[in-house]
Amino acid sequence: MTKIGFIGLGNMGAKMVINLLRANYEVTGYDLNEEFIENLLPKGLKKASTLNDVLGETDVVITMLPDGNIVEEVYENIIDNLKPGTLLVDCSTIDVDKARDLHKKCEIKKLLPLDAPVSGGVGGAELATLTFMVGGTEDAYKKMLPLFEVMGRKSLLCGSAGSGQATKACNNMLLATTMVSVGEAFSLGQNLGLDPGKLFEILSTSTGSCWAINNYCPIKGVGPQSPADNNFKPGFSASLMFKDLSIALKAIKNTGTHAPFGICAQENFKKMVEKNQGDLDFSAITKLNK
Ligand code: NAD
Repeated sequence: MTKIGFIGLGNMGAKMVINLLRANYEVTGYDLNEEFIENLLPKGLKKASTLNDVLGETDVVITMLPDGNIVEEVYENIIDNLKPGTLLVDCSTIDVDKARDLHKKCEIKKLLPLDAPVSGGVGGAELATLTFMVGGTEDAYKKMLPLFEVMGRKSLLCGSAGSGQATKACNNMLLATTMVSVGEAFSLGQNLGLDPGKLFEILSTSTGSCWAINNYCPIKGVGPQSPADNNFKPGFSASLMFKDLSIALKAIKNTGTHAPFGICAQENFKKMVEKNQGDLDFSAITKLNK
């Protein structure tokens, strides 16, 4: 049976680990916060007291860490100690260039890297309905597929190194801009004297419909249950969205892409974080400057 090392047992990682354990995989876990390791021991996790204790006879190392600098630091600590052919799968959201760079470093050591950021949030991690957007070789992807299937509902090899992160940047830029626009549509409707429930009924079934309206409507009491009904408790925090938009912004600049709405969304989420609202759900962006 495949032996898995898992680094980063926070909101997402802990839930992903539980699904791997339920599928009877042997998982050794490490997190800077020892409490997060201890919490998973009753579920069958093997404890790693140091980063390198994760490695052992590990066939796959999965990372689920806050940002690219931390992923890089962790990789620098472990890649010399892994046996050739080990799969190294980073599910964190990090910037595209850094992901490509890490692929190169792993390939020199004859490791099999994949960048595999996810969509679906903590709920998706818990219910094993995540979507994995994957960059790397077909060989590595095929080897990882059974584990993606345990932790998620969909995975797609989007292309070569960094393509998973690139896909994630495009998705989250689109999500951020649509969420801002949904807020504007409801503001306009309110100022025109419309009933928000009736406006939702039309928007969610007409050409303006989108995930941000249909599943995550940012107006209290309108549409399905969403963070707007719970004082914007996340969900997906504004500070994480700001991080993802900053990744998109860097890619926009590096590629000379014309994306003024994406840039504007990044500036607005930056303001939200500067106003100490980064812990609110990202959909609270629709309340900014009101
Ligand atoms: P989190 O902060 O809850 O978890 C990260 C964990 O990494 C923490 O437990 C922290 O202690 C640990 N950690 C930090 N540095 C470490 C190190 N050097 N060695 C070992 N452990 C270390 O974050 P999260 O919400 O689980 O998100 C993880 C990643 O997933 C991020 O890149 C995020 O952007 C991405 N993501 C999150 C969501 C979400 O809804 N939370 C959705 C999609 C993608």
